[in-house]
Amino acid sequence: MFGQPETDLMRTSGLRLRPNDLETIMGIPVLEQTILKAKGLSAEQVATLETLGMNGKADFATVGSAETLVEILPGLDAAVAGRVMEWAVGAAPKAAAASSSTERMIIDSADAVYCLHCKTRQPKDYKAGDLCPSCGKQAEPVQSCYWCSHSGPGKFCRSCGAEFVSLSEFDLAVLLKREGVAKEEIAKRLHDMSQADKDTLWGRVKRPHL
Ligand SMILES: [Zn+2]
Ligand SMILES: [Zn+2]
Repeated sequence: MFGQPETDLMRTSGLRLRPNDLETIMGIPVLEQTILKAKGLSAEQVATLETLGMNGKADFATVGSAETLVEILPGLDAAVAGRVMEWAVGAAPKAAAASSSTERMIIDSADAVYCLHCKTRQPKDYKAGDLCPSCGKQAEPVQSCYWCSHSGPGKFCRSCGAEFVSLSEFDLAVLLKREGVAKEEIAKRLHDMSQADKDTLWGRVKRPHL
């Protein structure tokens, strides 16, 4: 087979490229050209983009904005540029939309449970205390509550609803409780705290006054 100069293998492996192959490989793929035209670009404008070095959708991320697209394609309608960029890199996030999607992500990630031992994401019907289907160990450790000293698996204490903190920060959480921080605030406070603040707090854990 290597006696034949034009095998598919040799073409796709790039061993032997003819000018026509180069055009096919370097240009904007046909499907993307079709979409660009549907968004309002003319065939000439698509061709211009190719001569500017664009090889497909990913390169629009380099262009970055509709304004820049108009700058490199003089005469391009701003609305068309906007539609093209929306398709290629997504709509410019609006402040409200961005914050609600962040909120959503936090909710989603709080729902997901990952095995402590093998990091496998647990199935949807996972209940606290279940064994991991991937490694057979208990996916979550049994934790002690810094607030009411009950213990159990999961993210929150079943007895008082306090959000568990990592074992290494248990003493800090107890200290915060002693200092009057609200139950709902403690895990969040520890999460947001800088290492320097934690170090200061550890100083107080180790030298309890009175
Ligand atoms: Zn596991
Ligand atoms: Zn509790």
